[in-house]
Amino acid sequence: MKIREEALEKLKNYSENFLSSYAKDRNFDFGPDKRTNTSFLSKYITHRIIDEEEVIKLAHSKYSYLKIEKFIQEVFWRTYWKGWLELKPQVWQSYKTDLLKLNDQIQSKPHQDAINAKTSVECFNDWVVELKDTGYLHNHARMWFVSIWIFTLKLPWQLGADFFLKHLLDGDAASNTLSWRWVAGLHTKGKHYVAASWNINKFSAKKYNNLKLNENATALFESENFTSIPIHFDKLNNQDSLLLAHNLDSNFLLKTKDKFNHYALFDFNGVLAKENYSKRVLDFKAVINQEIADHIRSNFSSNTIIRDKEQLLKIIDEKNIKNVIMPYVTCGYENDFMNEIKNKTKISYIARDYDQYCFQFSNKGFFAFKEQIPKILSKFL
Ligand SMILES: Cc1cc2nc3c(=O)[nH]c(=O)nc-3n(C[C@H](O)[C@H](O)[C@H](O)COP(=O)(O)OP(=O)(O)OC[C@H]3O[C@@H](n4cnc5c(N)ncnc54)[C@H](O)[C@@H]3O)c2cc1C
Repeated sequence: MKIREEALEKLKNYSENFLSSYAKDRNFDFGPDKRTNTSFLSKYITHRIIDEEEVIKLAHSKYSYLKIEKFIQEVFWRTYWKGWLELKPQVWQSYKTDLLKLNDQIQSKPHQDAINAKTSVECFNDWVVELKDTGYLHNHARMWFVSIWIFTLKLPWQLGADFFLKHLLDGDAASNTLSWRWVAGLHTKGKHYVAASWNINKFSAKKYNNLKLNENATALFESENFTSIPIHFDKLNNQDSLLLAHNLDSNFLLKTKDKFNHYALFDFNGVLAKENYSKRVLDFKAVINQEIADHIRSNFSSNTIIRDKEQLLKIIDEKNIKNVIMPYVTCGYENDFMNEIKNKTKISYIARDYDQYCFQFSNKGFFAFKEQIPKILSKFL
């Protein structure tokens, strides 16, 4: 896969030339033309063009754990968030219900001003333009953006999370939704992140005079309490099977040793287009889909690309398939769509050992998860 070669090359280059100063430099947002102080790998990792294990292994092969502890922890933030949302999928469903209720606010002037870079907060407008133009924002800019959206512009966090998810090339339901909740003070109840003008001016490339931010905001509050439910991991039965590859776990077929009778790609772009994902994001996903489809054609002689329920049910029937298997589809619009099909036919999700092992540690805060990192590393490195 060409895009995988590209990602591996970037990972190698980053590890050799910049990784050693990650802890010192990572908080600076030097602007879109200078993205070397963090790895800039998130769009690949989100789609598992390269996966967390590979990133950690390569980084660790160059440096001791202590030297790159911060970088490894950041990669584990992703794993932590993914596990947390799998354990509490009601948080995703509740966010979607809130979005439906907020539908009539989408056309409101404050919301339209925010998403069209027409607010009175100059830095915020710059980040809106950058996000739409590039599909990326630096982590610190994401935190400032969210804080300003919620506490200065006083807009509903759910609409902001939706705007991010549909414009970020690395958009991920867990990392995005839960980071918004974290800044709002809903993840660790009462503990919120408030952006301060001095901090923005210290860490951002462009300096802003006269920033008028609400720096004394209190955390948001919600009355709902979400409890963890155990994650169900399906057992593999690959008799008379169809493997449905997808771009949330793009390198699955390169990694698995299991064999299947039939292979196809499930293209979720139609599902995401209905949710109004931006063209930039859909185009990026289309490139990944094409590469997975090419891989399936050259290695398993299959040209099948499935885009909807009817097509899937037809193939199951024609080929007499007993077991439809997908690399585990985590919380998000793709999984919601598959759950509808699961009412009609059995579909098994196969999770990687890494996910199965790590997700169990996501049931508390990141601090508790972090304590398990040495144990996780000794198992997977
Ligand atoms: C409000 C908000 C929304 C976010 N939404 C997303 C999202 O949808 N998808 C996403 O991948 N990240 C998200 N992040 C996390 C983080 O901002 C990006 O992962 C990071 O900026 C990507 O840049 P990088 O690849 O240079 O990261 P690096 O700093 O080089 O980190 C290496 C990798 O670790 C992972 N990572 C790093 N920091 C985090 C973090 N805080 N949370 C989760 N994973 C992390 C990413 O896969 C990243 O590529 C969000 C953060 C905030 C504050």
